[in-house]
Amino acid sequence: MPVLTRLIPSPVVVDIRDGALDDLGSVLADQRISSAGKLAVAISGGSGARLRERLAPALPGATWYEVNGGTLDDAIKLADAMKSGHYDAVVGLGGGKIIDCAKFAAARIGLPLVAVATNLSHDGLCSPVATLDNDAGRGSYGVPNPIAVVIDLGVIRQAPPRFVRSGIGDALSNISAVADWELANREKGEQIDGLAAAMARQAGEAVLRHPGDITDDGFLQVLAEGLVLTGIAMSVAGDSRPASGACHEINHAFDLLFPKRAASHGEQCGLGAAFAMYLRGAHQESAFMAEVLRRHRLPVLPQDIGFSVDEFVQVVEFAPRTRPGRYTILEHLDLNNDEIRDAYADYAKAIGS
Ligand SMILES: [Zn+2]
Repeated sequence: MPVLTRLIPSPVVVDIRDGALDDLGSVLADQRISSAGKLAVAISGGSGARLRERLAPALPGATWYEVNGGTLDDAIKLADAMKSGHYDAVVGLGGGKIIDCAKFAAARIGLPLVAVATNLSHDGLCSPVATLDNDAGRGSYGVPNPIAVVIDLGVIRQAPPRFVRSGIGDALSNISAVADWELANREKGEQIDGLAAAMARQAGEAVLRHPGDITDDGFLQVLAEGLVLTGIAMSVAGDSRPASGACHEINHAFDLLFPKRAASHGEQCGLGAAFAMYLRGAHQESAFMAEVLRRHRLPVLPQDIGFSVDEFVQVVEFAPRTRPGRYTILEHLDLNNDEIRDAYADYAKAIGS
C-alpha cells in the first residue's frame, strides 16, 4: 500500500489567546527558535512604543528596530540594519506594514520570522508574501512563511476597530475566491489544490457564520485563526489563489485607479466578494454575505466608502487587468461598461441599498 503524504510549510508555533504576548520569550525559547533570546524586533515608531515598554523587560536579549513606513526601501534598510547582529530570529511586532517589512528583511538576511500581529486587518500575517510599496505602486514579494505566529487577543482588543473589521472582509472574500478557483477548474482545467481550498473556504465560512462581533473574544479567536489558516492555505497552494479572485482584482483596481481615496484592503475585498458572488448567480449567498458585512459595519456599496456608481463601474471594468492570467467570474463574464452597470443595479436592489 503506498503511503504518500506531503510536508506543508507552516509555522512551528501558532499561539492565539489572551495574554500570549507575555509568554513570547519563553515560547520562542521552548521551541528552540531563539534559545538565547537574541531577537531583532521590528516595531513601529509610533504606536509600538507602548508595546516595547511592556515587552522589553521580558526580552532582555532583544534589539529593537523602529520601522517608519511600508515601502520596499524601508524593508531593505531594515535588513541592512539587522544583518550584522547575529540574531536567532526576526520578530515583526505590529500591524500589516511592520510585519510585511519584517518578513522581507528576514528573508533577505536568511533568518526565520516571528509574526506578532497587533491587529487583524488582513490575511498577510502568516502568508508567504510580503506586500510593499515601491516606485511602481505596490509589489508582492515571495518570502518564507513565518516560523511562529503570536496573536494576543488582549492586544487586538486595543487595536482601532476599523483595522480589525477589515480582516473580516478579507476572510469572507475567501468564499468568493475559492468559487473563482472552481470556475477556473471547470472552464480552463486549472488544477485545484483541495486541501488549500478547504482551509481557505472553512476559514471564510467560520467567520461568515459566527454570530459574534469584534467586541467578543470568541469571535476574535475565530477571525484570527481564520486569517492564519488562510495564510497557510496560500503556502499549500503555492500562490494566493485560495484567497484571491475577483474580490481581490476589484480591490487592486480601487488601489490603482484611486490611490489617494482607496479604502482598506479588507473593506474593498469584502465589497468585491459580495458583488462577485452576485455576478456568479449565487444571489442568496451574496445577500447573506452583504448582511454579515453590514452587521460588522463593513461597506457593501461603493458609496459606503465614498465612491460613485460610475467610479465603481470603472473599477470593475479595470479589475481583470490587475491580475493577468487569473481566471475569475470577471474574466468569465467579460462584461462591458453597460452590462456592469446593469449588474450593479440588480445587486444593489437585491441587497437593499
Ligand atoms: Zn486579501
